Formats: sequence, C-alpha cells, structure tokens
Amino acid sequence: RKKIAIMTSGGDSPGMNGVVRACVRMAIHMGCDAYCVYEGYEGLVQGGNFIRKMEWHDVRGWLSEGGTLIGTARCMAFYERPGRLVAAKNMILNGIDALIICGGDGSLTGADKFRAEWPSLLDELVSAGELQAEQIEPYKHLNIVGLVGSIDNDLSGTDATIGCYSSLARICYAVDLIEATASSHSRAFVIEVMGRHCGWLALMAGVATGADFIFIPEKPRDDNWREDMCNVVEHHRKMGKRKTIVIIAEGALDRHGNKITPTMVKDLLADKDGLGLDTRITTLGHVQRGGTAVAYDRMLATLQGVEAVKAVLEATPETKTCFIAITENKIVRKPLMEAVQAAKEVAKAIEMQDFDRAMALRDTEFSE
Ligand code: ADP
Repeated sequence: RKKIAIMTSGGDSPGMNGVVRACVRMAIHMGCDAYCVYEGYEGLVQGGNFIRKMEWHDVRGWLSEGGTLIGTARCMAFYERPGRLVAAKNMILNGIDALIICGGDGSLTGADKFRAEWPSLLDELVSAGELQAEQIEPYKHLNIVGLVGSIDNDLSGTDATIGCYSSLARICYAVDLIEATASSHSRAFVIEVMGRHCGWLALMAGVATGADFIFIPEKPRDDNWREDMCNVVEHHRKMGKRKTIVIIAEGALDRHGNKITPTMVKDLLADKDGLGLDTRITTLGHVQRGGTAVAYDRMLATLQGVEAVKAVLEATPETKTCFIAITENKIVRKPLMEAVQAAKEVAKAIEMQDFDRAMALRDTEFSE
C-alpha cells in the first residue's frame, strides 16, 4: 500500500486546506494511505507526532476554512543537508515514499533539492548505521509533486496560484469600504498591497476597483511619475470624482530602483502647493492573506490536488519533478525547476533594474 504525505510550507494562502482535503481523499480513493506532515519541513525534520495518518473524515469541512490547518513554518534546518538527512530518515521510518508539497517557490526549490539528493541521503543513512540496507530497499525512488500556494501569483508557467484570487477579492472588498468613506469626505487614499517582486495583486486590484493610479515593481514609473500621477488625479477630480485611490505594491520602484513608498505618494497628493488633497494611507497587511478561499481557489485547490495524487502515482524515476499548473483553463503538469528558475530570474531582473527583461520574462511561457 502506497503511503502519500501532504504538506503545506512557506507563506500560507487561502485554499491550502482545500488542497490537503483533495489530496487526502484522492489518495484514499486510489487505495493509498494518506499522511499529513504538520508545520511544513519542520515537521519532516522533527518526525514523531508531526507526521500523522489521515482518514476521510479528518478533512471534513476543510474547503471553507482559511489559512492552513496543518500549519506551516519556515525551517532553517531543511536548507542544510543534515536537516534533509533527518527528514529522509523520518519519511522512511513512517513508510512514506511520496510527498505532495503546497507552497511558494522557496518550498518548491527545497522539494526539488530533496528529490535530487534522495539516493545519496539513503546511502549516507545506511553507511552511518542509522538505517539497515533492507530498510531503504523499497524507498529507492522518491516521488515529489508541487502545488503552488501563494497569494502573489508569482510563479511562472501557471495562470493562477492557489490563493491569489482570494487575496484579490479581499483587496477589492477593502477598497470598496475605503471608497465609501473617501467619497463622503472627498479624500484621497494610498492603499498598500502585498507583492514584493510581483505586482499582480496591485495591477489586478487597480483594474478591478477602477483605481486612479497604481505602482508595481515590474513596470517602474519614469522620472516624471509625480507629475503624471497629479495630472491623472486632477483630471479625474475635474470630471467630478470625489475620491482618489492610488494602489501601491510593497515592492514599488522608480526607474532607478529607488523605492516608492506610500508616504511619498501621500505627501505629494496632500502638498498644499499642488492638489492639496486630504490624504490617508491604508496598509492592508495580513487581511490579504486571511479568511476563506473564494470559489475559484477552492476549485483550483480541488482539481489540482486530485491531479497531484495522479501525478505521484504515475511518476517513474525518469520523470522530472513536476508541479501542477493551470494554463488556458486546463489543469496540467509542468517541470518544477523551470518555473522556479523563471520566477527567480524575474526577481533578479527587478533587482538589477532590468525592467524590460522582467516584463518580458513575465510574459514568456515555457514548454516542457
Ligand atoms: P515560500 O515557499 O513561500 O517561497 P520560503 O522561501 O520561506 O517560502 O521557503 C519555505 C521553506 O522551504 C524554508 O523555510 C525552507 O525550509 C525550505 N526551503 C526554501 N528554499 C530552500 C532551498 N533552497 N533549499 C532547501 N530548502 C529550502
């Protein structure tokens, strides 16, 4: 009987519980035993009670729960080989030879490293006398499949990551609330949303709420952004708009790589020699992460969870580690490392202030 473990890792996102529910139930449906690893890689390193067998009813009602009920953590030990060695031992002691990980690009990078090292980790465990040669025999090959849980929608190769539409919905809801009061007092609001390297949330929130102006990392404003913004806002005011909404991603930059902060934008809108608007800043913060998943994320979590279990059962030593994506509305498997690499390249391009490359990379699809 195959034993499949499911884990959530890195930053949490709405929909992770839907993933766990789908994987546990699909695994059981396929005649396997389902396990959950609590607290991400930390649980794999700690072993013991962190690795628990799950039954069908254990995940009842999880689709409508926010966050991740099996916990997530950052695990320093897993960055180093000795940590991964203990993790491998704990998997074998629990009889687990397949792992489904739902997390961001960091978690998926760790997963790929773990799979690549697996044979040498087993050899080391035997030569160090931690395990007997017969014990490792059935576990020569480790299957790993990734699912992308992230509110930022920051992974290449998939149209949406699990959680991004829930976060976007929450931002839109918050902006609607702010707009009502902004309009009453004829105020301006600078709203900061999450996204250090990825402006998807800010961009889509701007479109979905009809914001006056946005700032995102991938497409920095040029030197006259101050003038541009004031002109747009003034134009909208002249047309009769009683509120001003500017959405700014955490990682917003100017052409020279300098941070554009909410305070800078606020001071400009409030400048007595300019627009002189009564301006407030709202940082939405962790409200964007919490709460239940919207219908789209529940659907994505369920369909991708089912596909992940299928992928694990069909994997051979020759298949590359894959993750489950959605492209053009189809659930598909894609090679993991290409996607992680592409996400890293974008972050690097932004850091190097090569914004044209960052935008080009965002648009590029890669094939298997
Ligand atoms: P996310 O998955 O949301 O991007 P992190 O980057 O913090 O979040 O990664 C989550 C965990 O994954 C880390 O705490 C660490 O245990 C593991 N991890 C991340 N990157 C690596 C890596 N390069 N090698 C090994 N483990 C990693």
